[in-house]
Amino acid sequence: IYHSASFLASASKLSNAPPDQGLEVAFAGRSNAGKSSAINLITQQKSLARVSKTPGRTQLLNFFQLDADRRLVDLPGYGYAEVPEAMRKTWGAMIENYLSQRQALRGVFLVMDIRRPLTDFDWRMIEWCAHYRLSLHIALTKADKLSRGAALDTLHKVRRELAGWQGPDIGLQLFSALKRVGVEEAHAVLDRWFEC
Ligand code: GDP
Repeated sequence: IYHSASFLASASKLSNAPPDQGLEVAFAGRSNAGKSSAINLITQQKSLARVSKTPGRTQLLNFFQLDADRRLVDLPGYGYAEVPEAMRKTWGAMIENYLSQRQALRGVFLVMDIRRPLTDFDWRMIEWCAHYRLSLHIALTKADKLSRGAALDTLHKVRRELAGWQGPDIGLQLFSALKRVGVEEAHAVLDRWFEC
């Protein structure tokens, strides 16, 4: 189903979103973490997530249809320094509203740059997911930027930090859009959430 993904709609707020039916998985990440590249690799479409980078659409919820009952949702990236404070508040309200209200939402796939994992933004997402009882899976992407040993060290370090946190279990994996690492693992997580 991933390879047949196509752009469905953008929404500036939840009330403009497509009907809250079927199953959805949301992709989240700091700007530049590698979220678009991950979505493109997972769906094997070179420019699917480009839609979400179109000026004017970067602050929107972008919905991609997989089949009649399943969708991927690209959440607006976070962390551009130049984003004004007012916009940051709108961003937070929109994301939290989506996470808390959306019945179709099965899980959140959080993309982090392996060289900069667990930023304040990431912790906010982790806490929201725990609070709203949403499944969460983390992909440490750009793993190709580190040696195999250093990548595994970071994986274990992040796993330890998450284990020390009083929340539900969180999936964690290495990913590289450049080297095409971790796609099968990601598909397995999505299959589970999408009940494939
Ligand atoms: P987004 O803002 O989170 O959607 O990030 P993008 O997917 O647009 O990626 C940001 C930058 O990181 C781009 O220059 C990508 O080419 C690069 N990038 C993304 N994923 C990888 C990866 O797995 N390895 C490497 N080396 N670069 C990556």
